[in-house]
Amino acid sequence: MPTLVAKHNYAQMTWPEIRDVAKEGRVVIVPIGTLEDHGPHLPIDTDCRIIEEICRRTCERIPERTVLLPTVTHGYSPHHGDFPGSINIGWDTFVRHLTDITGSLVQHGFERIILANGHGSNMPLVNMAARLTIVEHPEVRCCDYFYLYTPAAKDVIRSLRESEFPGGMAHACELETSIYLAVAPELVQMDKAEKDISAPQSDYFYMDWFDGPGSMMEYWSTLSRTGTMGDPTLATAEKGHTLLEAAVDELIMVVDEVKRREIRPRVDYH
Ligand SMILES: [Zn+2]
Repeated sequence: MPTLVAKHNYAQMTWPEIRDVAKEGRVVIVPIGTLEDHGPHLPIDTDCRIIEEICRRTCERIPERTVLLPTVTHGYSPHHGDFPGSINIGWDTFVRHLTDITGSLVQHGFERIILANGHGSNMPLVNMAARLTIVEHPEVRCCDYFYLYTPAAKDVIRSLRESEFPGGMAHACELETSIYLAVAPELVQMDKAEKDISAPQSDYFYMDWFDGPGSMMEYWSTLSRTGTMGDPTLATAEKGHTLLEAAVDELIMVVDEVKRREIRPRVDYH
């Protein structure tokens, strides 16, 4: 069906436009982040800024297939409370906040939704919200997404990575700092960037873009001296541009998968 409304920003549409866009079967992308400490060199909005940028660029590449919701700014990060800055939403409130958003979208006729997350500790909760959306609306397809996690994207990370493994790419690290440098270099204080891989060493629990097999989230001040986990001193804008491009390619692939996902009827075998 040809696109009737030449817009993809949800908040800038009128209600008749939203009605018409929903009928086009577009995929709604909901960027989700959090505000929390990202070392002494990055703004606390890093997770929001990065995922918003990836989602915005994706929608600009394929506006006729997408709708972009405003970013969900506040997420789940109580373990960061020892550092100034984090705004924490309780885990159950956060999950329900997300399912209230997806439920509203469903009410308006949207049937394909991506919850695009940029904050690690949101992951199980965003996943739960996506599951609940389908449980509560079986006719709808909703998934979670975290950037740069597909095998192709991880190959791109490997191709440019200079920091050590594990630990060099976890938080306010080579990866996140590079992307922020590509997006808004005037907000990155590289003179304050400091390598910090001070979490206890373990073969089972380690945080990295290539995570360890086990997971144990302790209070951040017991894992990091600076708020950073990784090596931001190796970050460059050039790496950031490459990573952003890979993330947009990845998300376009996910949009197309979600858009064409077959919805099979349920079968009751009682
Ligand atoms: Zn982050």
